[in-house]
Amino acid sequence: MNIKDQLLRGGHFKVGNGQATRFWKDKWVTSRPLSEQFPNLFNIVRNKSALVAYVFSDTNLNLSFRRTIMGNKLVEWHNMLNLLSEVTLSLSRDKFVWDGQRNGIFSVQSMYHLLMNIPNNERNKKLWKLKLPLKIKVFLWNLCRGAILTKDNLAKRRWNGSLTCSFCNRNESIHHLFFDCYMAKSIWRVIYFALKLEMPVSINHIIGSWGTNRGPGYKKVLLSRIAALFWAIWLSRNEVAFNQKPIPSIVQVIFRCTHWLRFWRLLQKEESQQQILIASQVLEVVAMEVFANHGWRSNSRIEAQCACTSNR
Ligand SMILES: [Zn+2]
Repeated sequence: MNIKDQLLRGGHFKVGNGQATRFWKDKWVTSRPLSEQFPNLFNIVRNKSALVAYVFSDTNLNLSFRRTIMGNKLVEWHNMLNLLSEVTLSLSRDKFVWDGQRNGIFSVQSMYHLLMNIPNNERNKKLWKLKLPLKIKVFLWNLCRGAILTKDNLAKRRWNGSLTCSFCNRNESIHHLFFDCYMAKSIWRVIYFALKLEMPVSINHIIGSWGTNRGPGYKKVLLSRIAALFWAIWLSRNEVAFNQKPIPSIVQVIFRCTHWLRFWRLLQKEESQQQILIASQVLEVVAMEVFANHGWRSNSRIEAQCACTSNR
């Protein structure tokens, strides 16, 4: 189901002239779309996205089916006619009413509650349950569905700037920025030395099986840490791409990540907070050891933290 359909499931249409409501796919005559209420008919109907106005433009319903209606389809047909016998269209426009809030007004919060409840969407459930600021959960969710505006995605929206990664000379994509770029690879290497976690291959790997051998409690804290890492890479990339800042050192990005970790740990359960503090310190020590010979100076940490604070 695409995002538009997921959002539309969060509300229903008050039908006026029927020109904005899909007969089968939207919720309008009852609390479920007709496609779900009469699945056998929906399977054989030709125009699955027909609007209510189009279907009611004929004195008989303007519907065409690929097969003869008989058996259970005939039962569904009669039930549907019964349901539709009360429907009358008017001259006013169709109105979409959001069900997530009592007042019918859309909010991001009610949208993610809705998305959380979509069955078979374990990944979303995991994400929205993380104890992180809402802004970060939305960022992670967009990352998982490949929708953050990396340069390849910007180009799809007819953006005509350079496609080159802000840190190296290869083209930027989500996978490149967070896994393939030298910046990402170096950070994953530090994580490997510091936390003994092998390098993940993709976002889905991270959300899925990565690190699960250490137990479900650990996995939740781990996802929050990785959120801080992704956020640090993303903010650093934005500064280079759009604010003409110099490319940060790997250690600066790691300190930016540990800054967010310390900041967000207050949202975690008390027993996890200490764990996060220790992990942050280990990450910093290992980062400094690994990159001690790469020209990093001690004041870079202060610069990195200042940059983080200004982005709060
Ligand atoms: Zn790169």
